[in-house]
Amino acid sequence: MQPHKDQEASLHRARSVGALVVLLLGAPGAGKGTQAKRLAAHLGLPHISTGDLFRENLSRSTPLGLRAKGYMERGELVPDGLVIEMLESRVSAADCRGGYLLDGFPRTLPQAQALAKSLEAAGLSAGVPPRLAVIDIEVPDGLIVRRASGRLVCAACGHIQHKEFDPPKQAGRCDRCGGALQSRADDQPEVVTKRLEVYHRQTAPLVQHYRAAGLLDAIDGQGNPGQVFDRLLQTLHNRGVQGGRA
Ligand code: AMP
Repeated sequence: MQPHKDQEASLHRARSVGALVVLLLGAPGAGKGTQAKRLAAHLGLPHISTGDLFRENLSRSTPLGLRAKGYMERGELVPDGLVIEMLESRVSAADCRGGYLLDGFPRTLPQAQALAKSLEAAGLSAGVPPRLAVIDIEVPDGLIVRRASGRLVCAACGHIQHKEFDPPKQAGRCDRCGGALQSRADDQPEVVTKRLEVYHRQTAPLVQHYRAAGLLDAIDGQGNPGQVFDRLLQTLHNRGVQGGRA
């Protein structure tokens, strides 16, 4: 579909059924990125990963990327003000009018509050409030460390593989496009441990926040990506969200 057709479809959805916003919560390495890509394609929603947005900014050495760099390398969260500004600018794009899927945002209570405000404003301007569905992908810490420390990302197409769980057919090459597979700098074991500690302290409280609001379902993130995706779809289906949007 041409971009302007996507935007028209997105606007049409926003006006008719209300936008759908899906949040994936879970520790770093829980499989949010892999599931988010599949789910966004399935639902026909743009996939917005704040981690990817920061990495893109960093690779282009933008002022935003350079400000985020140190925090990312240390496994710390980038300050809320920077993340919120970047996110608000992305979700105000025309392709997000029908909704979007967030991966890695919100990660703090102030970010969740900023999102709630932005959804309220979007609902007022569309005349129909957006629908919010939050899924927490649960994985024990021990498995998180094994997963993150073996993760390989294709520099060309972004496809994710794993040294142990999804080894490339040809060493160092992406199974999908043949591009170079690389480890993320922040997937080094000591940085993973730090990111997990930050997750438990700053992000895990959001699970309770959204559960109390009746918006959250938790799924078991163990098993292969296909099994986790089936659980994700079943959970959304139980909430009345279908493929191709409903
Ligand atoms: P991710 O790819 O989602 O694991 O993000 C990689 C890094 O980007 C994180 O460890 C943080 O330093 C930064 N980051 C991504 N999203 C956020 C966010 N919502 N709030 C603060 N920092 C973030």
